Amino acid sequence: MFESLQIGNTVLELVLGDITEQKVDAVVNAANASLAGGGGVDGAIHRSGGSAIMAETRKKYPNGCPTGSAVPTGAGKLPAKFVFHAVGPRWHGGRSGEAEQLRSAYRRCLELAAEKGCESIVFPSISTGAYGFPIDKAAEIALRTVKDFLNENSAGNIKTVRFCLFSGDDFNVYQRTLNVIHLKNVCKTDERNPPMKSTISLNILVDSSGSMYTIADDMSGGLNELIADHRDSDTLVTYSIFSDNYQPVFAEKPIRSVEQFAIKPDASTALLESACKMIDEVGERLAAKPESERPEKVMFVIVTDGQENASAPEYTRARLFAKIKEQTETYNWLFLYLGANQDAIQEAKTFGISSDHAMDFRADSVHIPEVWQSVSHRLADMLYCKMEAVQSVAFEDIDRQKQEDD
Ligand code: ADP
Repeated sequence: MFESLQIGNTVLELVLGDITEQKVDAVVNAANASLAGGGGVDGAIHRSGGSAIMAETRKKYPNGCPTGSAVPTGAGKLPAKFVFHAVGPRWHGGRSGEAEQLRSAYRRCLELAAEKGCESIVFPSISTGAYGFPIDKAAEIALRTVKDFLNENSAGNIKTVRFCLFSGDDFNVYQRTLNVIHLKNVCKTDERNPPMKSTISLNILVDSSGSMYTIADDMSGGLNELIADHRDSDTLVTYSIFSDNYQPVFAEKPIRSVEQFAIKPDASTALLESACKMIDEVGERLAAKPESERPEKVMFVIVTDGQENASAPEYTRARLFAKIKEQTETYNWLFLYLGANQDAIQEAKTFGISSDHAMDFRADSVHIPEVWQSVSHRLADMLYCKMEAVQSVAFEDIDRQKQEDD
C-alpha cells in the first residue's frame, strides 16, 4: 500500500512496512524519555541497528530526552545516516498537553532533518503503540505538523517525508486523514473521481434543547474543527438550531468566513418541525438561485441528543419523511442523522434516512469531537465524489467504532 502527496518540493508519502528496512537519510525512533530502549519501534531499531546506537545514545544523552523533543545519533547497521530518537507523550486522556507534545516531537525531527541536510526521513506512528495515543488523533497531528512545516519553506533539502505504518488498519487511518487534510477523493465508489472539487451546500441543524447544556462547548468545538478542516473548500454553510422552536443562525456563509459556532441551550426538542422548516428554507433558497450559482451537492446534517417532544401537531413524522424522500430522490441531497441517547438508526429510519447515513453518538467530551470528525470525513468524500455517487457517501465501521471505544 502506498499513498503520496506533493507539498512544495517535498513528497509526503505513506507506506506499509517495517521502519528498519527503509532506505532513507533519517529514521525516527519512537523512544522513551530515558532513551533506555524498549519494545515496538524502539526495540526493532536497536535490534536491527546494532549496539552502536545505544552506546552512542548513552554517551551523548545520559539524561535522556524530554517528552516532545528528539535527539540524533548515527544509524548503526540500518540503511540510513541518522536515527532521531523522538519522545512522544503517553496518552492520559488528552487533557495533559499530549497533542502539543506530539506535535513538537514531530517538529523537532523535521528541524533536525533540515539542519543535517537530510533528503529523506521516515517516521513511525509515534505514541500510538505502547503509549496509547488514539491513532486517528495522532495521525491528524502528525500529518498536519509535516504539512505545516513544509509549507513554511523550512524544509532545506528534504525531498521525502515518509510515514511507515505497521498495519493495514493504521495505514488506512493515515490515508483517510491525509485525504481529509488535502481534500482529496476518499469516495468509496468504484468510479473514483479525478481530483475534482465540488461546491457544496452544507446545512447543519443542531438540537440546543436543555439536555445540550453540559455539552454545548464540545458541540461547538467539534463544529469549529469541521469548519477548520474544510476552510479552503467551496462550501456554503447554513446553520440553524432548535429547541421548542426553530432558530436560523446564519445562511449560506462561505465556509472560510464562518468564525465560530455558538450553541445556546434551552427548553425542549421540536425536531420534526425544525427539520421540516429548515429543509423548506434551504430548498427555497436553492430554487431561487440561477442554475449557475447553485451548489452542486447538498449535505444536510441533523444532530440531536433527545427525542422529539415539542413540534406543533401538524409536523408529523410522515411529513418530514416525505420531505426527506423528495429532496433525496429528486435533488440527490445527502441527509446525515446523528443521535445521542436513542437508537439513532431506528429513529432515522422513521424519517426516511438510511442506516448508512445515521449514527449513534455519545454525548460527552471525548465522543462529540469524534462524531464531528466523522462528519468531516463524509464532507471530504462528498467534495470529491461524483454527483451520481452522493448517496454512497456513508458512515463507516471506523466511525461507529470510535463511538463505542472508551
Ligand atoms: P510508542 O511507545 O511511542 O507508542 P511503539 O513503538 O509502541 O511506540 O508504537 C508506535 C507504532 O509503531 C505502533 O503503531 C506500532 O504498531 C508501530 N511499530 C512497531 N514496530 C514497528 C516497526 N518495526 N516498523 C514500523 N512501525 C512499527
